[in-house]
Amino acid sequence: MTTRVAFIGLGNMGGPMAANLVAAGHVVTGFDLAPQALEPARDHGVRIAASPAAAVADADVVITMLPSGTHVLDCYRGPNALPAAAPADAVFVDCSTIDVADAHAAHAAVRESGRRALDAPVSGGVVGAVAGTLTFMVGADDADFAAIEPLLTAMGRRVVHCGPPGAGQAAKICNNMILGATMIAVSEAFVLGEHLGLSHQALFDVASAASGQCWALTTNCPVPGPVPASPANHDYRPGFAGALMAKDLRLAANAIRAGGVAAELGLHAAEMYAAFAENGGADRDFSAVVHAIREQTATGATATATAEGNDPA
Ligand code: NAD
Repeated sequence: MTTRVAFIGLGNMGGPMAANLVAAGHVVTGFDLAPQALEPARDHGVRIAASPAAAVADADVVITMLPSGTHVLDCYRGPNALPAAAPADAVFVDCSTIDVADAHAAHAAVRESGRRALDAPVSGGVVGAVAGTLTFMVGADDADFAAIEPLLTAMGRRVVHCGPPGAGQAAKICNNMILGATMIAVSEAFVLGEHLGLSHQALFDVASAASGQCWALTTNCPVPGPVPASPANHDYRPGFAGALMAKDLRLAANAIRAGGVAAELGLHAAEMYAAFAENGGADRDFSAVVHAIREQTATGATATATAEGNDPA
């Protein structure tokens, strides 16, 4: 069935996602504040609207794919709020990665207007957006999920109903907290191994077939050699950029603090990736965090060294 889709935010992710909707036969009207995002979308058959309100005016579904919760809430609330500009039966789907609290606020704003809302953040990166192989993590009521699932499959390979509104964002940040923390753990193990005279390949051969096995090791291995396709073998070109990992872990840290959850590793990983992104890692694959660990080791700026230095005994 052809759906009229308004697509707000035609950037690195939104552009190719909108193109895949067009390719699946849907009528897509897009809007982006950045002129450079419009031309590639137009080339892929997206109709470009003169304003966000014009884009949503006759939409069955409004998809937002924006940088942050502030951008999403600016679209959903206030004097230029999009829900009121859309048809009364329109469904709003936010695919951006934003704070869980902002996702709840976005849902509330759409509900107040009488429209329906889902959070549906994605994993899979730009490569997945182009190939139509994203994973969608959806927070929605059962009926809303059933209504929107077929449309999402035009842009993704897996569509997971994670629970009620907000659950999609929760799943996204919990998964990425695992990813960020395991990448640090794998990187620390390689650096420790280096100091113990263990080759990268030997540690990989053991851990990849033992209880240390994880995606950060066997797919995105942070050292060159053992996994030829990993970014470490390609000058740490992302992949998944350090800036995005820092952002997602900041969202996780916000939720950890808001809930008073004893997730010390998650908080520490958020700090490490914030420092990594600020110190040149923003545009590199997040696995380059192994260099930060190696550099800290070389300069003695480690927790252990500090603790020993302060030890009165
Ligand atoms: P991007 O910066 O490339 O695109 C965002 C677009 O939104 C930009 O073109 C910007 O001009 C536009 N925009 C901002 N405010 C707007 C407004 N009010 N109206 C219309 N357009 C507006 O970012 P991206 O990489 O496409 O990421 C989008 C979202 O997807 C983010 O929340 C990000 O965390 C998430 N995400 C990104 C990746 C990735 O690999 N890039 C992976 C998973 C999730």
